[in-house]
Amino acid sequence: MFRHTLLAATRNRAARRIVETAPGTRRIVRRFVAGETTDDAVDVTAELAGEGLLVSLDALGEDTLDTAQAEANVQDLADLLGRLAEAGLAGKAEVSLKLSAVGQALDEPFALENARKVCAAAHDAGTTVTLDMEEHDTVESTLRVLTELRREFPETGVAIQSYLRRSEEYCAELAHEGSRVRLCKGAYSAPESIAFTDRVEIDKSFVRCLRVLMAGQGYPMLATHDPRLIEIGGALATLHDRAPSDFEYQMLYGIRPQEQRRLAGEGARVRIYVAFGREWYAYFMRRLAEKPANLGFLFRSMASR
Ligand code: FAD
Repeated sequence: MFRHTLLAATRNRAARRIVETAPGTRRIVRRFVAGETTDDAVDVTAELAGEGLLVSLDALGEDTLDTAQAEANVQDLADLLGRLAEAGLAGKAEVSLKLSAVGQALDEPFALENARKVCAAAHDAGTTVTLDMEEHDTVESTLRVLTELRREFPETGVAIQSYLRRSEEYCAELAHEGSRVRLCKGAYSAPESIAFTDRVEIDKSFVRCLRVLMAGQGYPMLATHDPRLIEIGGALATLHDRAPSDFEYQMLYGIRPQEQRRLAGEGARVRIYVAFGREWYAYFMRRLAEKPANLGFLFRSMASR
């Protein structure tokens, strides 16, 4: 129940005001968000790269309903990619792109054109883009945009959410050579007709998807902190003769940092999803929804008002 309430609150202005202005919130936000500026993002990327970790950068900001804002978001990403190249970090960091930040809700061709500019900037910098997957009603549009982007930038990746009943089908379609698929459980709210809502069913679906991706010709990216799924991922990679360079683990900045370093220390490729920027509210609320204990930290900080 908490999960649905918190996810509904990502779109509630009053809740947003309360959370954003509560004293102490920023300290908790900093656990999950690397900072507010491009400088912060580049510094954290350099730090993580120094520890043998890879990075995917998420410039926070989503659900853009304004053309100028969508274009400004594209420019910010192009600047970020330029900065990564200058700092010699493009080989260590890619960009995660939310199509909703570049105008998907306004017009799909407009978002495609903007995403194309981001992919071109990534290509020039020497790195890649992975499309985040957002609300269930944007999945088909995101996959259409992916198909178009891959014509020019075949290295473009995409996230698939195992809570979707069709996730295994999507994975089968995407398990081809050159394809990069980030498999995650899914951080949004979706109706029972479209998505599994039971945690065990979501996990079982994750394993079915993982089997398809590991057996396929693409490059699987296992985005989970779940110890059982990480173990199953490793076992399936061995079963399918995948070398450590043929797949990667991905985790969020601030979550299970020791496990991130343990896997990297064993020779695995581990990529940390690093979110940064001022528009942290929706991202932060999704992190709270994933783990009720995080909510306790927030309430305690609010009580100290
Ligand atoms: P869970 O069962 O939720 O968690 C397993 C364990 O991990 C927990 O017991 C806990 O110890 C730890 N943990 C998990 N979440 C938290 C948290 N917030 N705070 C503290 N501890 C936690 N979702 C999308 O819908 N679209 C995307 O494009 C997308 N991209 C992602 C990219 C990456 C790299 C990652 C890691 C996740 C992404 N997600 C995305 C989020 C994902 O769907 C899940 O919501 C999130 O990862 C939690 O699921 P889990 O697999 O870690 O399993």
